[in-house]
Amino acid sequence: MVAFYEAWNSCIIPPRDPKPSLLDLKAAIARHMIEDCRLCERSCGVNREDGELGYCGVPATPRIASNFLHFGEEPEIVPSHTIFFSGCTFRCAYCQNWDIAMDARCGSSADPAALVASIREGIVQGSRNANFVGGDPTPALHTVLDTLAVLDPYAPNLPAIWNSNMYASAETMRLLDGVIDVYLADFRYGNDDCALKYSSVENYFGLVSRNLVTAHEQGEIMLRLLLLPGHLSCCAAPIMEWVASHMPDVYFNLMFQYHPDYRASLYPEIDRRPSAEEKAEALALARRLRLRIG
Ligand code: SF4
Repeated sequence: MVAFYEAWNSCIIPPRDPKPSLLDLKAAIARHMIEDCRLCERSCGVNREDGELGYCGVPATPRIASNFLHFGEEPEIVPSHTIFFSGCTFRCAYCQNWDIAMDARCGSSADPAALVASIREGIVQGSRNANFVGGDPTPALHTVLDTLAVLDPYAPNLPAIWNSNMYASAETMRLLDGVIDVYLADFRYGNDDCALKYSSVENYFGLVSRNLVTAHEQGEIMLRLLLLPGHLSCCAAPIMEWVASHMPDVYFNLMFQYHPDYRASLYPEIDRRPSAEEKAEALALARRLRLRIG
């Protein structure tokens, strides 16, 4: 079996065209952007190439906590080769992935060639896409683009998924144009106060909705709304109303799996699971608004 993979890797698939591609150019621009980092709307302005760290703490060479064939995502995209970058641009008090999101040093340094070998092995095992997540993939934009540039000659039709909190800068969104097929996008807060309180993020609603409009023009969106306990009228309802009026055609996943984690116990109002009544009410609203519930 090992001999088969070696042959497959070296002979059967043609080697990469040495001419620079548009993807190479985008990757070079993204690498340049981390010298005055504005990959996300935190706009730290640090020189990550010089070893400076911004809010996310992600170094110039991001680290990968794990990457594997994931069967737990939406049924339409599994099995999904999911690459978990360490570090995040948010600080969600209830983070369900806090062990890798809050520690950008977790795992090993990302190597695009090794990642491509792993993705190609995943294809042999039935993987349907390459799914870039974290933490959040935004601080690793340059590595994602490098990886896709190396992967492209071998698997040009493999869908690329951007699995994100959607707090990227407008420049980052532009670089993703023509590269990302599916935005697996979280939309969680219906107002800026809740976003600031629970995720330490400013101007949330305007920036995330702006990026969703861009993503809608650039590719497919699979939208995820994680129902937070006690946040139906302030968050879930305004989000659903916004989706119904701006992009009623998008796949809409109303998620009920919230459980208190990380530092949720510091906020008694979210230190519980959503009630059966809250879930039923949220679902009824989504149906009333005729959202395309996945
Ligand atoms: S990606 Fe990280 S360093 Fe860059 S602007 Fe965002 S938080 Fe700051």
